[in-house]
Formats: sequence, structure tokens, C-alpha cells
Amino acid sequence: MKQTLQKITDNLSDFFSVVFSSAANQASAHNKLTRHIVALNKKNSSKDIINEVAVCLKDILGYRLFAFVVKKESGVDVWLDPRMYKKSLEDIILEDFQIRQEDLNYLNQYFEPDELQEEFSMKNLVYYELNEENCYSRLYMLPRKSITCFHDEVVNLILQGCATALSKQIQMENLKDAAVIDPLTGCYNRREFENQIKRHIATAARHGHHLSLFMFDLDFFKQINDTHGHLGGDLVLREISLLVKDNMRTGDVLARYGGEEFIAILPETDKNKAMELADRLRSKIAAMRIPHNKEVIRVTASFGVAELTPNADMNKIIQDADTMLYKAKVNGRNTVMPGLIKICTPKPLKEDKKIRFPLG
Ligand code: GH3
Ligand code: MG
Ligand code: MG
Repeated sequence: MKQTLQKITDNLSDFFSVVFSSAANQASAHNKLTRHIVALNKKNSSKDIINEVAVCLKDILGYRLFAFVVKKESGVDVWLDPRMYKKSLEDIILEDFQIRQEDLNYLNQYFEPDELQEEFSMKNLVYYELNEENCYSRLYMLPRKSITCFHDEVVNLILQGCATALSKQIQMENLKDAAVIDPLTGCYNRREFENQIKRHIATAARHGHHLSLFMFDLDFFKQINDTHGHLGGDLVLREISLLVKDNMRTGDVLARYGGEEFIAILPETDKNKAMELADRLRSKIAAMRIPHNKEVIRVTASFGVAELTPNADMNKIIQDADTMLYKAKVNGRNTVMPGLIKICTPKPLKEDKKIRFPLG
């Protein structure tokens, strides 16, 4: 790493001495770039590395609008300038990387409302590629003015500077993902679920917060495999996990607990809210139509919900959810247990409907 930095620093010195005539300008630009490159080599997540590249591009070239896209085994990470019109760029990324929208993982969650985003013309957009052995990324940019060879050189130097750091980081993130993520559905695996539930229980108990779980199992899934083949069954598992993830909050955790059984942690959620969510998901799953080999697959799921009780541990709350799931199966499937009891507030009776007691 020291050698790489030294090589880049040498390249920078040669380059800046050609581009900047005054020694003061030369030294200042050179220092800035070196500082950013050293900083990004100290970051320990790909998100932080990309953020540093963003700061560096603004600082040195004054760029405002750009996106950085990094391909990883678990999907594609996207850092997008909030003022860049998201939809236009998204279409380009999906085509360039040949992926589906669900594979996109936005690193910066916050976007301005659409009217504040700048529309841009595709012909003005340029991109630079970074192709390391385990990491392929693209930097898309919309420069203020036309790109000069000076810009090209600086951008390439910045990318060279981040290449080693990014590739090392992505290698680590791929390994970490492989240990905690279920490869078929992209949900956490059971071991990671157990790590996370222990942490969530400790936090909820310490702060006196609610914590709920739901567990669900697909109904008659064996028949789906028998009718549509194992690949059809796999497709159902993937589509169901996408649907459930899409309808959960950011802090919720979804894991594949076993074959066609999933479990979710809902922090700061009481049992009633958890049952409401479970029932919403149950009905969305039942309404799904999954096209496969010119046929349509339909499936239902049974849910068991449980809330953390005082002094309960991981085994107790999982056991409670599992007992409720069993009841949901016994109760005819495609249902949530315990079910919501709808309490209707009594309306005042109209005058003529009031019961009158005979006097005397
Ligand atoms: P129930 O409503 O009682 O849950 O019935 P079921 O048929 O869903 O339950 P059962 O336990 O009899 O069958 C579960 C099936 O799930 C059998 C197994 O082959 C299938 N399965 C488990 N993991 C996978 C997987 O990764 N892919 C596919 N396609 N099928 C799987
Ligand atoms: Mg089942
Ligand atoms: Mg099962």
C-alpha cells in the first residue's frame, strides 16, 4: 500500500508541475489530492471510500453532479448525488450493469423531492471505469463545462488512488456477506439472525423498549415444488423475500430461518403493530402472482407473532413465535396468530332506539 501511494504521489508531482504554472497553485492542488488519497486508504467501508472520492472530486475539480457505482457479489452499490435526476441515471445503470432494480443498493438514502433534481441530457454524461481484479466500478459525471484533458488526468489519478482501497474493502465485504447472507434469497442466514436477535434483546431490555418477532412459513410449499419444479420453488422464495423486505422498515431484520421458513425482528414494535404488519404481508403474499414457465404460481403463508416479555431470552421469544405459527397452520393456514381482535367503540343509540323501562 505504501508503494502504491508513493507511485501515485510521484505521478501527481509530474502531472501538477505540467498543469499548474505557479508553484503555489501546484503545491496546493498536489497537497489536496494527496491528502484525500491518504484519507480514502484509511477508510474501512466501501461507502466511506466512495464518500471520500465524492468530497475529493468536489474539492479539486468543483464537480457537483456525479454517481459512483460499484459491483459487488451481493448487488450493486450506488452513490448518487441527491440533485441528480435519480430515475434517468437508474435506467442507465440498470442497462450498463445488466441488473434488476432490486439489486441496486443506494448508499445515500436521502433524495431531494423530484422537482429539485436536475434533469440532464444523456449526451453530456461521461463515465470512467475502474477495473480491478475483484471490483468493477464506474464513475458517472456531469461536468459543468466540457471535460478537458486536465479533468481526465485528475479523475484517473483519483480513481487510481482509490482502486487498491476499494478492491481490498470489497474483497472483505464479499467474504463477510458470504458468512451472513443466504445466497438464494439475499436475507440474513439463521446464524446471523441469532447474533442480531441477542443484540436487539439486550438493547430493548436496557431501554425498556418493545421488541417483536414474526415467523412465517409458506403453505403447502412441497406441492409448489412438485407442480412447478425446484426452480419454480426457488423463484417463489426469492420473490417472497423481496416483497417482505420492501414492506419492512429500515431497522427491521429479515432472515431465512430454514427451507421455506423466515423470521423477522421488529425493534421498537409492540405486538399489535407486529400483528398488523404480519397481516398486511399475509394478504400481499396471497395476492401475488408469480409468472414462471408460462404459468402463474400462487402461494400463501402462515404467520406466528410474539413480543419480548420481561426476563425472556432469545429461546423464549422464538419459541413463542413458533407456537403461534403452529397454531396458524392448525387454524387453516394463510393466517396470523395471535389474530387481531377488532374492538368497536359502541355508538350512542338514537333517541327512538333507547330502551325505555316502564315506570312504576
Ligand atoms: P405446510 O403448509 O405444512 O408448511 O406444508 P409444506 O409443504 O410447506 O411443508 P413441508 O415441510 O412438507 O415441505 C417443505 C418443502 O420445502 C419441502 C422442501 O423440499 C422445500 N424446500 C426447502 N428448501 C427449499 C429450497 O431452497 N428451494 C425449494 N425449491 N424448495 C425448498
Ligand atoms: Mg411450509
Ligand atoms: Mg416449513
